[in-house]
Amino acid sequence: MNFHLITLFPEVCRAYTDASVIGRAQKTEKGKGAKVRGKKIAIDHYNPRDFSTNKHKKVDDRPYGGGPGMVMAAEPVLKAWQKAVGRKRNQDKVKTLIMSPRGTQFTNKLAKEYAKKYDHLVLICGRYEGIDSRVKEALQAEEVSVGDYVLTGGELPALSIVDAVSRQVPGVLGELESLEDERATNGEMYTRPDIINWKGQQLDVPEVFLSGNHKDIEQRRTKR
Ligand code: SAH
Repeated sequence: MNFHLITLFPEVCRAYTDASVIGRAQKTEKGKGAKVRGKKIAIDHYNPRDFSTNKHKKVDDRPYGGGPGMVMAAEPVLKAWQKAVGRKRNQDKVKTLIMSPRGTQFTNKLAKEYAKKYDHLVLICGRYEGIDSRVKEALQAEEVSVGDYVLTGGELPALSIVDAVSRQVPGVLGELESLEDERATNGEMYTRPDIINWKGQQLDVPEVFLSGNHKDIEQRRTKR
């Protein structure tokens, strides 16, 4: 899976995507013996500012018809998209998403669907009041929202989508972690130490988890 983030703040996005599981999934890994694990995902960044023809590298302008705030101009975003995936021959494998608080609600079901159907996911991050509507029209893009709240930019939504979709790409999570994902558990979990003292209160791990009785543990975990 190839992710293409169109954002005015690529360094903000990289700080997140270089870390932990998502960071590792972008590298080839030498496993045990001579085994080499290939890259599972790739993440590229494109800054509309680099595609601005304005001498001050301006990427926003006042809205036609008036109103508050500024609008992200269409052309730098369109040119960034062209650089990212415009020349891919099989456009059926390319999906373009525009981050918007008014978009379709993003869900884990959609994450699975994207991971299965597409090779390239382009995520366009808005700033200011949003993006010139012709971007959606030109790219036949879909607007997606990560939730019923308004953020100052599309970077966090895009990163949420990159993260959730990556987890659905085979090999990104370990086999056990993927299995864990499919199980309906009650979310109850503990690790060492078995006793914690917190402000005069003793917090114990429930006995059953220390019992070694796997049947009882399983029953407790799947109890809703
Ligand atoms: N008044 C504007 C607010 C824009 S918020 C409006 O109603 O659209 C600035 C940018 O942040 C948006 O263009 C979008 O890309 C992003 N954004 C904010 N909240 C979001 C959400 N819940 N889901 C996805 N993107 C969001």
